[in-house]
Amino acid sequence: MTNVILITGGSGLVGNAIKAIVPEFGGEVAKNNTFIYISSADYNLSVMNETEQMFIKYKPDYVIHLAACVGGLYKNMNNKVAMLEQNLTINYNMVHCSHKFKVKKMVAFLSTCIFPDKTTYPIDETMLHNGPPHFSNDAYAYAKRMLEIHCRMYRENYGDNFVCVIPTNIYGHHDNFDLEDGHVLPALIHKCFLAKQENVDFIVRGSGKPMRQFIYSDDLARLVLAILFDNGEKITDTIILSVSEADEVSIGDVARKIANCFDYGHRIRFDESFSDGQYKKTASNQLLVQKFPDFRFTDIDVGIAQTVKWFLQNQDIVRK
Ligand code: NAP
Ligand code: GDP
Repeated sequence: MTNVILITGGSGLVGNAIKAIVPEFGGEVAKNNTFIYISSADYNLSVMNETEQMFIKYKPDYVIHLAACVGGLYKNMNNKVAMLEQNLTINYNMVHCSHKFKVKKMVAFLSTCIFPDKTTYPIDETMLHNGPPHFSNDAYAYAKRMLEIHCRMYRENYGDNFVCVIPTNIYGHHDNFDLEDGHVLPALIHKCFLAKQENVDFIVRGSGKPMRQFIYSDDLARLVLAILFDNGEKITDTIILSVSEADEVSIGDVARKIANCFDYGHRIRFDESFSDGQYKKTASNQLLVQKFPDFRFTDIDVGIAQTVKWFLQNQDIVRK
């Protein structure tokens, strides 16, 4: 009997990375598991009945729960009700059904942007609920914090193997390159591409001073699959998936790295009339290093170059 591994959010940035990385795990994994990738066109997971239909149809043994209403700083600021309601309902339905339909293990996605705004650094796994999140993304943050609580309650009451991962800013192939709603890295790749095409300045929003840790989507996929396939001894509750504190970079540096890929560094301009969002949310990857000591991250220069290349070569399918 093969296991069914169901991936919600299968059409997104991380879902596509998982699809690309599964073959690396070898023939045994392919032979023993059937991977099902779900998009919103298949089921609207904010509706309980549709969520149940999905579980009835696929009977998943394992779930990687990625589906979410996701976006960059400006989408979060301008769509708070949707960020709160969609994420609360999607997550409630998924956790509830994963228990009801006896899923053996679920890996659910949080984010480092849901940590407290006023805190000490580096932030670790124990600090998630120690104060309000930054006002710019509080709706998304509170919904995601409830996902952690929901998984924890099922672990405590029923012993369900529902674990949460907390990635930092993710980037890579198949990202959302929308100019307004995308996260900073894909939005800036698209903006630099257009600026060069139109021979105008490359406008970066805010001061460029905020600091972020970026994880390449392929690296994240490798870690998530390793967590899913472990025998339960490695990760039992929540883990931050992040590059080291030393690898934190400023938004200005990211903009310069992107501009260098387009040979357009001389035209960068920062527009400080836009919000900077949270100044930083430096996360500790100490637990990750302890659990996966041999794991090596893709260098950000390599990751950005590959993402720019993918963006240029896939204009017909790019989300923008
Ligand atoms: P993404 O590219 O925006 O993809 C979102 C996915 O969710 C898509 O497959 C989308 O389906 C699906 N979805 C949205 N609403 C849905 C609904 N009502 N019913 C069913 N499916 C729905 O997101 P991502 O960047 O891969 O993010 C994956 C996870 O990582 C999310 O939980 C996110 O919160 C978390 N995360 C992301 C980042 C980041 O920087 N991107 C950082 C930290 C954590 P369609 O394609 O059909 O719309
Ligand atoms: P965050 O890391 O959760 O805050 O989300 P983002 O990925 O959207 O990054 C936001 C940071 O990038 C803020 O400091 C913004 O001022 C900066 N930034 C600069 N230009 C852009 C842009 O075009 N889009 C986005 N989303 N952020 C930008």
